[in-house]
Amino acid sequence: MLPVTATVCREVAPAIFQVRLPLPFALNHVNCYLLDDGDGWTILDAGLHRPELVEVWEAAWRELGIHRRDIHRIVLTHMHPDHFGLAGWLQQECDAPLFMSPIERDVAQFTWYDETTPARRTLFDDYLRSAGVAAEVATVVLKQQDYLRNMTRPLPAAIEVIPPGATVQMAGRSFTAIHAPGHADGQLLFYSAADGLLLCGDHVLQKITPNIGYWLNSHGDPLANYLGSLREVVALDVALALPGHHSPLTDWRGRIAELLAHHDHRLAAMYTAAAPGATALEVSYAVFNYDRFSTHEIRFAVAETLAHLEHLANQGRLVRDDSGEVRLYRAA
Ligand SMILES: [Zn+2]
Repeated sequence: MLPVTATVCREVAPAIFQVRLPLPFALNHVNCYLLDDGDGWTILDAGLHRPELVEVWEAAWRELGIHRRDIHRIVLTHMHPDHFGLAGWLQQECDAPLFMSPIERDVAQFTWYDETTPARRTLFDDYLRSAGVAAEVATVVLKQQDYLRNMTRPLPAAIEVIPPGATVQMAGRSFTAIHAPGHADGQLLFYSAADGLLLCGDHVLQKITPNIGYWLNSHGDPLANYLGSLREVVALDVALALPGHHSPLTDWRGRIAELLAHHDHRLAAMYTAAAPGATALEVSYAVFNYDRFSTHEIRFAVAETLAHLEHLANQGRLVRDDSGEVRLYRAA
């Protein structure tokens, strides 16, 4: 039990409270938000379904004097488990509608609702094996998927959509929903031009670079989408960005410049590693330090490597060789 006096909510902007929830991963927390709409509250992002996160939500509501019935809307920036996992439970508890972008609703359906079929497991296994991941490691990664999926139950009964470009009234502000793909194909950011406040999900983070992964159901070139989106949203006049992990950002343009430079360097390193002919796994070994990885992170390393290799192949700098059982990339 948390002590009742624990301060779990932090007012990070007028009428916006950050709730930091613990995660059982190397990235050990996720930031969710409570937005005071005057006539009720919006929850932005949910967390994973684990008992310790439920306790934190209940402590947050106690602290702010919120009753479940006061929560009139749940909004998710994207469908990754650390943001989506508790959404079904919140929906049940608060009897509130849940909103996502149209793309993220479809990806959530594909990933969390349809994933358990044998055909899907075979597809995911093929995806890993084609990247060069050994059968026994692929089995462990599949188990990890099951572990994650268990923390997304109960699934939301219904998901409504916020289309990109829509205006959403929250916390006394008029937010515009902005489609910002890359980390997730359909991630939404919410921008309030009047005070330069941005709810930026996992699009731009301090300390860590958002994972850009090429997954089983990804758009063909998520890294191209990400870099293109960064070059667009850098134009926003952001005084304060409230992210899904780590601290709020005040140097919006400076952090975007660092992220763009990071991917330039990583593309160069991956090109060098792949040029003589290599699998995605081999390239990821050359670029990442596997000694400190759990199986959870192996997935991310492989997906991140694939995103860069596919981007280089789409640019015509690498070619894909599918003549064997495992895909090889090499210099064009
Ligand atoms: Zn996240």
